[in-house]
Amino acid sequence: MEITAKVPETSLKIKQKAIVIGGSIAGLLIARVLTDYFDQVTIVERDRFPDEPQPRSGVPQSHQLHVLLTQGYRTLNQLFPGLEEELASWDVYTLNWTADLKWLLPGGWSPHFPSELKTQSCSRNLLEFLIRKRLAAYSNLEFKETTIVTGLLLNPNRTAVEGVKLRHSNGTETQLTAQFIVDASGRNSQTPQWLKSLGYEPPQETIVNAFLGYSTRWYEYAGNEPLDYKALYLMPRAPHQSRGGVLYRVEGNRWIIGLIGVGKDYPPTDEVGFLEFARSLRNSEVYEAIKNAQPISPIYGYRRTENRLRHYEGLSRFPNNFVVVGDAVCVFNPVYGQGMTVAGLAALLLDQCFKQHTKSNSNPDLKNLGKQFQKKLALANKVPWLMATGEDLRWFTTEGEQPSVMTRFLQWYIEQVIFLASDQAEVYQAFMEVIHMTKPSTVFFRPSILLSVMRRMLSRHHKS
Ligand SMILES: Cc1cc2nc3c(=O)[nH]c(=O)nc-3n(C[C@H](O)[C@H](O)[C@H](O)COP(=O)(O)OP(=O)(O)OC[C@H]3O[C@@H](n4cnc5c(N)ncnc54)[C@H](O)[C@@H]3O)c2cc1C
Repeated sequence: MEITAKVPETSLKIKQKAIVIGGSIAGLLIARVLTDYFDQVTIVERDRFPDEPQPRSGVPQSHQLHVLLTQGYRTLNQLFPGLEEELASWDVYTLNWTADLKWLLPGGWSPHFPSELKTQSCSRNLLEFLIRKRLAAYSNLEFKETTIVTGLLLNPNRTAVEGVKLRHSNGTETQLTAQFIVDASGRNSQTPQWLKSLGYEPPQETIVNAFLGYSTRWYEYAGNEPLDYKALYLMPRAPHQSRGGVLYRVEGNRWIIGLIGVGKDYPPTDEVGFLEFARSLRNSEVYEAIKNAQPISPIYGYRRTENRLRHYEGLSRFPNNFVVVGDAVCVFNPVYGQGMTVAGLAALLLDQCFKQHTKSNSNPDLKNLGKQFQKKLALANKVPWLMATGEDLRWFTTEGEQPSVMTRFLQWYIEQVIFLASDQAEVYQAFMEVIHMTKPSTVFFRPSILLSVMRRMLSRHHKS
């Protein structure tokens, strides 16, 4: 499929340059937005990008299972119209989340019915590859590969970022200047240290760690027996059943199997241990699916899964012409599948900020845009953060900031909703819509669900 990208001349109001540090999902999506506003956008990436959909070392999690939530899927199609058709040409599967996912919830199996919660199930590597290909068609975008950003450059009066320091693969060091700089360099972002070295305060951090580990293996799908699902999730159940497993079908007739363990009950990465762990789950379906299946990869472990929130929105001084996005600001326990979707929402938020600043001004002042953006982003991160950390804090083994009374109430309430979800299609639908970020969490409090929660509470009270 030939891809052309038209740079919308009318919206190019800032005849200047922008730099994005990091060419992974967050960096690529932000860069897409910046192409609408800047003459030249440069993505600086330390890796060399593979020519095919493959993992790469700068994104160690790229071996792991990545689920794209419905809101994320819609955002990607909004930013890259036609992506859906292009994905379809890669032999991917349409996944209707309420019909095709078999989910063992704490209270039992999920109900099944079709809904508007649809995505195409593919690997993260394919997604990143296709987005990159799309961006490469923009004439005002360039990739600077195998180049590491080693610091930020400030203007003479030290109020704004005006460029970055670069180290190239041959060891030489140069500088690149621009009028707008974005840090999308992921969880190991150096911005806190860079800010400190430039005389700015670094952001405060909140960490909640459930000590969850992944072991992931890719399998060929022989397809001999018909299955009644396209994805399967055996969810751990707090506080005692710490093990879970996921089976997710992706392009090329492959399955990704992810085993997870909470509270340092890490799944092994050796052959025998992996199968034994699968056998020990709440239900035998994952084990049955893989015991005779053909593995096509090693077993990849991953343990850096803590939720980490950097509070850039709370800084009294923040340099102008600079923003931080994606995992560099907020990284979630990945088991909730939120990272790419939240990165997409950040790109849309930045677009909104630029629209406001450029509305009636052909030479806009971007001075306060960064601060304004970080505040909006902090607000947008609130619910996904609460969903992830609220769930993680159910485990006695989780370390980090303890929840407030309000958070504890919400945790308790959502626990009731999750229990009801396996019995009532309406509750399951609401639960899935919130998880997929297509509806706000207030839908949990609509009268019919509130009533069901109260009824459950009363019946449990009578039984005890
Ligand atoms: C085990 C695991 C499973 C996950 N599963 C899901 C899932 O199911 N669904 C989901 O939505 N999300 C998932 N995520 C989260 C997801 O991977 C990230 O949220 C997503 O990749 C966006 O991250 P990012 O672009 O901000 O950073 P990253 O993906 O970490 O990318 C950072 C990029 O910056 C580059 N870089 C870093 N430093 C520099 C530098 N100094 N100079 C130049 N380049 C630099 C890196 O090479 C890399 O390309 C998972 C994460 C993990 C760890």
